[in-house]
Amino acid sequence: MRKLIEPKIVIATHNMGKLKEIQSLIHPFNKTCVSAGELGFDEPEETENTFVGNAKIKAHYAAKQSGLPALSDDSGIMVSALNGAPGVYTADWAETPAGRDFDIAMQRVWNEVQSSRATAPFTAKFVCTLCLAWPDGEDAIFEGVAKGHVVWPKRGRNGFGFDPMFVPNGYDITFGEMLPEQKQPLTHRAHAFSLFVSGCLND
Ligand code: IMP
Repeated sequence: MRKLIEPKIVIATHNMGKLKEIQSLIHPFNKTCVSAGELGFDEPEETENTFVGNAKIKAHYAAKQSGLPALSDDSGIMVSALNGAPGVYTADWAETPAGRDFDIAMQRVWNEVQSSRATAPFTAKFVCTLCLAWPDGEDAIFEGVAKGHVVWPKRGRNGFGFDPMFVPNGYDITFGEMLPEQKQPLTHRAHAFSLFVSGCLND
């Protein structure tokens, strides 16, 4: 697999929660990182119906605009009782005329779980697809999963997105109740990132 030899990369996200987690994962690897937001790039429309498709759109867009390799993240939560929804549409469930509201999105997930025939525990997984794209058009894809279940009422104020309603397997607190350093190694993002490290950063 092609190695990432360039010293500087773009983190192709405008999501502050993802940005913080990716920055902290990449910190030990001696790369200079700049975010798509800092470079003043707009967000390309996510027109695909797969995580891979949308991750590619974001990474290639930022790589082309910047002339630097770009690392994107497309992720979401898949709830078994909802046949995998909201999945690739996770962020869309939070859209309101006034911007994204994840309290509304979490409430909708819970309402739909309650309306389903499912019984507790309501299994769910976070999935993350990372795409590293080079300005010449080559790319590499890395996928990670964090398994657990969703709970209500939501708990905790840490993290972002759906963290307050997700309890990872082996724990009884939500991602929203964990400190960043406790959540980080358990995440779908960290699992995808370790594949990126072994594929592109290590010799
Ligand atoms: P997208 O990848 O921009 O389509 O957005 C994915 C959405 O999934 C985010 O806006 C979050 O709401 C949610 N999400 C992804 N990863 C996490 C996570 O680690 N914790 C909580 N929510 C997440």
